[in-house]
Amino acid sequence: MTFIDVPKSSHRLLAARPAQFCTSCSPGGPGPSPVLRSQLLGWRITCPLCGDLLRAENRRELPSPFPQYRVAALRGEKLLDDEAERGIRTWTSPAEIARLLLMRRVIWPLPREHELWRYRVLGAIVPDLDHVVAAEQVNLPTPAKPILPLHLRPALLAGVAIVERAGPEMLRMLRGHMMGDNKVRFTDAAENMIARAGKLRASGQMQLI
Ligand SMILES: [Zn+2]
Repeated sequence: MTFIDVPKSSHRLLAARPAQFCTSCSPGGPGPSPVLRSQLLGWRITCPLCGDLLRAENRRELPSPFPQYRVAALRGEKLLDDEAERGIRTWTSPAEIARLLLMRRVIWPLPREHELWRYRVLGAIVPDLDHVVAAEQVNLPTPAKPILPLHLRPALLAGVAIVERAGPEMLRMLRGHMMGDNKVRFTDAAENMIARAGKLRASGQMQLI
């Protein structure tokens, strides 16, 4: 199995070990079985072969706490899949959006220090996230490796789809949820993405002339 064609921006969404499986497509039976590519793709919630929902590798079946974002999540999955597997991007890199959405955000009043890690930019788009993360006491991953547990993944996929559809202004708006160095890092990355999108649009218009 090779990921040589996967663009660099999507590499951080590749799991080192199988994170999920498809009950229909994964070979069962005793003994070690070969790992399928789909088991390592951190942006998938459905099987690329048959379209069934994937199951977590630990075989705990947890329903997603974000059923209302199902359609948006599938759209986000497709955006990330198009980029990783086919090199297709829209105005920006969906994998870059995913990374920004996992950065920390600030809420007011400031929470206690040991709770600060909980609040991510994504929670400003999918408000249920803060509550779910608090209730389940899950450790969300860092932006460096933005692979969420399978049942929480729809939140990130939906967030990617919502930002992609809303466009650059939404990235600028999200800055308001941050402060300090984090805000600077977020702004730099977001402005880079917006500038590249502008160039892309300009060169597209040039071709039309
Ligand atoms: Zn399958």
